[in-house]
Amino acid sequence: MAAWDLAVAGAGPAGAAAALGALHEAPGLRVALLDRAGFPRDKACGDGVAPQVLDRLAEVGVTGLLDDRVPVGRLRLVRGGRDVDRAVVRPSYVVPRRIFDARLVEAARAAGATVLRHRIRDVRIGDDGVRIDDEIDAAVVVGADGARSVVRRGLGLPTGTRALALRGYAPVPAARRGTQVIAFARGAVQPAYAWSFDRGDGLANVGYGEVLRGPGGPTRTQLLARLEALLPGATRGGTDWRGHHLPLSGARWRPPAGRVLLVGDAAGLVNPISGEGIYYAVSTGIVAGRAAARALAAGRPADAGRGYGRDARAHLFPHLRHTAVASRLIRAGPVLDAGLRASAGDQRVFDDLVELALARGRLTARVLRGLGAALLRTDPGTRPPPLQES
Ligand SMILES: Cc1cc2nc3c(=O)[nH]c(=O)nc-3n(C[C@H](O)[C@H](O)[C@H](O)COP(=O)(O)OP(=O)(O)OC[C@H]3O[C@@H](n4cnc5c(N)ncnc54)[C@H](O)[C@@H]3O)c2cc1C
Repeated sequence: MAAWDLAVAGAGPAGAAAALGALHEAPGLRVALLDRAGFPRDKACGDGVAPQVLDRLAEVGVTGLLDDRVPVGRLRLVRGGRDVDRAVVRPSYVVPRRIFDARLVEAARAAGATVLRHRIRDVRIGDDGVRIDDEIDAAVVVGADGARSVVRRGLGLPTGTRALALRGYAPVPAARRGTQVIAFARGAVQPAYAWSFDRGDGLANVGYGEVLRGPGGPTRTQLLARLEALLPGATRGGTDWRGHHLPLSGARWRPPAGRVLLVGDAAGLVNPISGEGIYYAVSTGIVAGRAAARALAAGRPADAGRGYGRDARAHLFPHLRHTAVASRLIRAGPVLDAGLRASAGDQRVFDDLVELALARGRLTARVLRGLGAALLRTDPGTRPPPLQES
């Protein structure tokens, strides 16, 4: 039976960050980083990595991770006839997860984590520790095993609102080079959008996703048709199509206390307006790793979850409340259209909305004023018809 101070279930961005957070706090810790897959491995994703992700990684000593990648400095938002094309304050990266996740796992290994290939089926919490599959014992476990988390299910926690998205790789047409394009659907419950993110190597990550309202969901054929309708030509020459669920965050997010901590998608943390989840995964992973190391150093591993919950909430609130409100506001189209009009009129409103969608921004006074003004200046096409005099 292997005994570890910390076992991390899942070696995606959340799990690798948890190992990095723990080892940065306590370099001698015995940390096992478990994953059913060998790395490099693919993961359905838009591959958009916000610069704020790199800020968080620098805090645990990981720098220069994407220095060889081409940053993308423009973001274009399209809905119907409206087209907002602006420079972003800080460029993002578009990095195939095959590359990004493998680099993070290597960074965790270099920091001292032991990377093991293991598919987790069963997690049991005892008075003295946690047992995984009758094979692995650990004082603390971090559940970082993604949207279908076995660890989360073992804790008996329900799943919340989900989105479904499909992505592929296709040649970038000239008009979409050097940019991240997001084209919102019309007549659908929002968020529902297609994207084309230039990777900088002749290919774009293209895809379509929408929030699910009730059981079932669109088929792969429907998702592909919606992508092509919103971004004509985006699917041409496409390969590597892969879909996955996204567990969207809510206003009342609270992780469980105890020896088992949940991070990233396993904790139900994907931005409900943008579908971005890597920032939350890396942030909560680092906070959880640090909290586990501190609880272990204090000789109170069963307090790790409480410390993590406090620190993670301090990091992510009130942002999570603001995204929950924003996702309700944009559910029907007019507020989303107003957001696009306000972004077209004021670079700072655009910047604030990008921060809300990618990291831990808020619905600032500037955004709310911009939305209010844009809603009052309704497009002629969406104004109600004049009353007929009888
Ligand atoms: C189509 C799509 C597009 C997206 N686009 C973006 C984007 O552009 N930018 C962005 O920031 N976010 C995006 N997201 C969200 C993002 O992919 C996730 O939020 C992010 O991957 C979460 O990281 P994680 O480490 O929590 O989980 P994951 O990345 O899912 O990693 C979980 C790991 O756990 C392992 N695992 C699972 N079960 C077990 C088990 N039983 N035993 C052992 N190992 C296990 C898996 O092999 C995997 O390596 C997108 C999601 C989808 C589906």
